[in-house]
Amino acid sequence: MRLAAVTVFVQRISTGFDMVPAAIIARKRDGHELSAEEIDAMIDGFLGGSVADYQMAAFAMAIVCRGMSRTETASLTSSMLNSGLLLPRVTDRPRVDKHSTGGLGDSTSLILAPLMACLEFDVPMLSGRGLGITGGTLDKLEAIEGYRCDLTRAEIAAQVDSIGCVITGTTPDIAPADRRLYALRDVTGTVESIPLITASIMSKKLAETLDALVLDVKFGSAAFMPELAQAESLAGSLIAIGQAVDLPTRVLLTSMEQPLGRMVGNACEVNEALEVLEGSTQSPLAQVTLALCSQLLLASGRSRDRAHAHTLLTNELNSGRPLRRFQQMVQAQNGIWRDRWPTAPAEPVLAEQAGYVSAIDGRRLGHAVIELGGGRKALGQPIDHRVGLEMLVRLGDAVSPGQPLVRIMAQRGPALEIAQRLVQQAISISPSGISQQPLIRTL
Ligand code: URA
Repeated sequence: MRLAAVTVFVQRISTGFDMVPAAIIARKRDGHELSAEEIDAMIDGFLGGSVADYQMAAFAMAIVCRGMSRTETASLTSSMLNSGLLLPRVTDRPRVDKHSTGGLGDSTSLILAPLMACLEFDVPMLSGRGLGITGGTLDKLEAIEGYRCDLTRAEIAAQVDSIGCVITGTTPDIAPADRRLYALRDVTGTVESIPLITASIMSKKLAETLDALVLDVKFGSAAFMPELAQAESLAGSLIAIGQAVDLPTRVLLTSMEQPLGRMVGNACEVNEALEVLEGSTQSPLAQVTLALCSQLLLASGRSRDRAHAHTLLTNELNSGRPLRRFQQMVQAQNGIWRDRWPTAPAEPVLAEQAGYVSAIDGRRLGHAVIELGGGRKALGQPIDHRVGLEMLVRLGDAVSPGQPLVRIMAQRGPALEIAQRLVQQAISISPSGISQQPLIRTL
């Protein structure tokens, strides 16, 4: 990616329009195309204090209602990126990362970062916490006692230099405008907007100064964007920003009609990622991770085709090196290494009738984990990392009465009873089978 392009990728043109916040908000409300200067004025003013929270909230709502053109979205991304600093480049190795729009049972990041580092890529991954029912990479890693998710830019640079991968939280000096705007959007009903989501995601990824980026845009009942068409629009908008800065950007659309992995929770998902790092490559979790890594190998020019990429990746996983690199990363970030992390005692939920699994309601499963304390009901709430679910069936499986469908990992008590009801309701059993949908689609 051309660095100069990142910082000035939108040409600034003088419009002569009034730069008063109320006038800019009104122009967006009335459906006019905003200039880069007007968007800069809003973002700079918001951080500097001359645009109040209520004005920014009104601006965000005007964007939700009126949308933004690709040019405006690029300007917004640029303003948010330029509100902070970039991660410094410290090695000559190509630098890559992935972003997922969030799902259930998705621990791909924990595998992708050490695997790509073993193939001589740098992966400075800035991740987030759980949002709504979706799990967060940082929450999973905090199941590891001592693991630090608050590295500074200097610490990130030093660790990328020494072991090639880091997974930590976004530092306060990276895209600070996004941090403040996201908190405001969260409480003003303005999260669901493709331009706002695009600028939020891409401003943080561009700050990593990457050479290639892969995006995992989820669709299906437990996804942020349940409809495939919405997921495709978001994917198109994200790719357009990558193209505007010459960053090779690839996207996969992956299904959230059921949890990706067998495990849903924090410690149990880290344990499942270890199974893949130990060389188990047949599961849907492994398939999606390998597909995302393949896209990075293709985008960076390391592999000429998917078959070559797949062989490179599976050989590397089978070598045991990515598992050791994950251990190095955990220990470099102060985590105490174990072969597996502890989970709560397991209670099965049994099938009440014979038939086929015809639907799995990820929202109910996500709420069950939240009820158990594995996710948050309020901002900043502490998490019980040992609770979770083990899915024993997938869509289309035949089941008989009394067969265990899910194991709930939790202590006995009222929360377990609520979770048992939610899990029972989440799994629909029908007399006839269903047609299998593809797990991975391309744009
Ligand atoms: N993830 C982000 O980082 N930002 C959004 O706006 C939505 C999801």
